[in-house]
Amino acid sequence: MKKKTQLIHGGVVGDPYTGAVSTPIYQVSTYKQEGVGNFKYEYSRTGNPTREALEALIRDLEGGEAGFAFGSGMAAMTAIFSLFKSGDHIIFTDDVYGGSYRLATKVLNRFNIDVTFVDTSDKTKIEQEILENTVAIFVETPTNPLLKVTDIKQVAQWAEANELMLIVDNTFSTPYWQNPIELGADIVIHSATKYLGGHSDVVAGLVVVNDQKLAEEVHFVQNSTGGILGPQDSWLLIRGMKTLGLRMEQTEKTTQAIFEFLKERKDVLTVYYPGDTEHPGHETHRSQAGGFGGMISFDVGSGERAKAVLQKTKYFTLAESLGAVESLISLPPEMTHASIPRERRLELGITDGLVRISVGIEDAEDLISDLKQALDS
Ligand SMILES: *Cc1c(COP(=O)(O)O)cnc(C)c1O
Repeated sequence: MKKKTQLIHGGVVGDPYTGAVSTPIYQVSTYKQEGVGNFKYEYSRTGNPTREALEALIRDLEGGEAGFAFGSGMAAMTAIFSLFKSGDHIIFTDDVYGGSYRLATKVLNRFNIDVTFVDTSDKTKIEQEILENTVAIFVETPTNPLLKVTDIKQVAQWAEANELMLIVDNTFSTPYWQNPIELGADIVIHSATKYLGGHSDVVAGLVVVNDQKLAEEVHFVQNSTGGILGPQDSWLLIRGMKTLGLRMEQTEKTTQAIFEFLKERKDVLTVYYPGDTEHPGHETHRSQAGGFGGMISFDVGSGERAKAVLQKTKYFTLAESLGAVESLISLPPEMTHASIPRERRLELGITDGLVRISVGIEDAEDLISDLKQALDS
């Protein structure tokens, strides 16, 4: 089954009881038992049919063993880090999502889990950071906002040889374009709030694991810590995901056109887009993903000019988040990455004038003329 078919026919289709073509919202907390211990579902934290339909869908899309749905991307990550114990050490991509950075540095440390941040786009740098107690590598690719690319297969082979678990945050590429488990990762995480939901109307997180033992452990943690996604939001997410393929295909074309427009402008300094043949991760990304996605970052020279541009766009809405039908624009150094000290930001390449856009599904010409008038003024 190809991806676009799988988005409609994967997981659990419809409702066996009524023939309804969409999975019903089983808005229920508990279930009648036929006799003590004789039941299909017991309690909705442990299992709920609507959530299970979503979990089966993401499992199929990622080609894994089992899927799990959580109340947010961060709840999903918290559950995954609950697989580890005091004294463990985890290596992270250095420019991970701000919330992942906060969880790693301000919460995991309370449980005596050590973390190291490294540029995972360079395998030799990862090799230098391995310790006796290293148990896992957490990779985000491409990253935010600089869209750095890590070679998943290469890191997976190295992780396996060293008995480390490889966890990949696949939010930016989505399962439509990239499937880390098929490249050797053990666990895939999504902030489903972004492309999977796709309509800026639900906050959710998804996890897929590659084997039965991990599936049992993650279900144990999900049920024990309880950060599940409710039936209503599970249903919304399934609905959003049905059009993931259409949205990603359209976004791909529009993003390419916007990139070409930005690349031509003399008043735009650097443009970061993995689809750029000059982008250092271009070839690696192309070898592991079917598309380059809808994110572009570009430097307009100064924080002042960036703010003026953000004030002027009409169709690009000034907002955090990404991956929705509506195009969004933001200023990472003052928004998502404001908590990183300026010195460190500059070291990473997050300059004061770095603007980030998430390309939606509006008309490409309208989006380009919107950026043009904002840059011209
Ligand atoms: C948004 C995001 C998260 C966090 O997900 P929430 O759903 O907001 O909790 C994690 N990773 C990446 C790459 C993100 O963009």
